[in-house]
Amino acid sequence: MIKKADYAASAWTAHFQNELEHQKRLNLTRRMVRSSRINGPEAEIDGGKMLLFSTNDYLGYSQRPELRRAARRAVEEWGTGAGASRLVSGNLGIYKELEDRVAVFKHTEDALVFPTGFMANLGVVATLAGPGDVIVSDALNHASLVDACRLSKAQIKIAAHSDVESYRSHLEDSRGRKVLIVTDGVFSMHGDVAPLPELAELAQAYGALLVVDDAHGTGVLGETGRGSLEYFNMPSGGVIQIGTFSKALGSLGGFVAGPALIIEFLKNRARTLFYTTGLPPATLAVNLESLNLIDRDSETRARLHRNIKKLRDGLKDVGLTLDEGPSAIVPVQIGEAGDALRMAESLKERGVFCPAMRPPTVPKGESRLRLTLMAVHTGEQIDVLISHIGDVSKELGLV
Ligand SMILES: *Cc1c(COP(=O)(O)O)cnc(C)c1O
Repeated sequence: MIKKADYAASAWTAHFQNELEHQKRLNLTRRMVRSSRINGPEAEIDGGKMLLFSTNDYLGYSQRPELRRAARRAVEEWGTGAGASRLVSGNLGIYKELEDRVAVFKHTEDALVFPTGFMANLGVVATLAGPGDVIVSDALNHASLVDACRLSKAQIKIAAHSDVESYRSHLEDSRGRKVLIVTDGVFSMHGDVAPLPELAELAQAYGALLVVDDAHGTGVLGETGRGSLEYFNMPSGGVIQIGTFSKALGSLGGFVAGPALIIEFLKNRARTLFYTTGLPPATLAVNLESLNLIDRDSETRARLHRNIKKLRDGLKDVGLTLDEGPSAIVPVQIGEAGDALRMAESLKERGVFCPAMRPPTVPKGESRLRLTLMAVHTGEQIDVLISHIGDVSKELGLV
């Protein structure tokens, strides 16, 4: 065992302490609260009962009796773990059923399931593009896409956020190279939707591949909850859609859906697919049942959208300006990290839990509250939120 004195004397200790001090001075210290869900949007946070406006469980599916039953049945039938990588003996039979179901759901030729959305992004982007290729990546893409681009060793060109002309000029400059265009479908901190029809057209015109990470669109957007492409009534065509079971679908796991050739290529090459263990049977069974539930349950999705409208209207009425967007993510711009923290603290004192988003999760000077809605929020709960935010905004001089 290392002696405390040796460890304390190392240059590492000073480094870690200085970095943490620095983060604290900038109001950027991170802390995990202890949280357990009680009922719908109610949770116990650090021992106190709170109303959540901070979960991506948009449809409340993580608590649904049908999905709990699917998990229990799978545990009884197949046990608790896959036991190996999918390429060895961990490719449980239910994987095939789930992947076929994802492909039908996303209207694509084929699909492939990964352990998480983060790993799907790493696997897809870093496998499709490599040294010598170009990735045009949106300035506000999720951290997992940013890391995926870096891991690929391709040349990375950052497009101004959802700025089609910026994408076009990067594509123009990359003629003669293989190009991947990579964007979130719904941006996780802004709640806005990427200009997918225009990006698909650009991809077509320049012979590029379009990869859309629809973590927040899947289950929420579109007539039947298929996500951002359906929101625009676009054909899935050659688009490579990444998604996650961890948000509206209430579970865990990532997937990619797209042309069969690309899925076959990923099956042969994606390292985040092989060098990790397959998902446990209960998770796979829940994921399958969750997609089925989306199809039978348009009412829950409709309730979510009524709640989104109610919150947006109410926040505008108290004088706040909001970024536009059709998703369940409603950001309230605040600016400085310290103000965002004070807003979140005041709300917490009033029993509403919604943490502040600060750099590097959002750009500097754009700290915000990231409110997320659920279908299971009641009208009264949303009214309470609006009234508290109105009061706190006045106290902080924001309106
Ligand atoms: C949450 C998120 C991911 C990661 O998904 P997990 O399944 O939670 O790993 C990827 N992309 C975006 C845009 C996300 O918001």
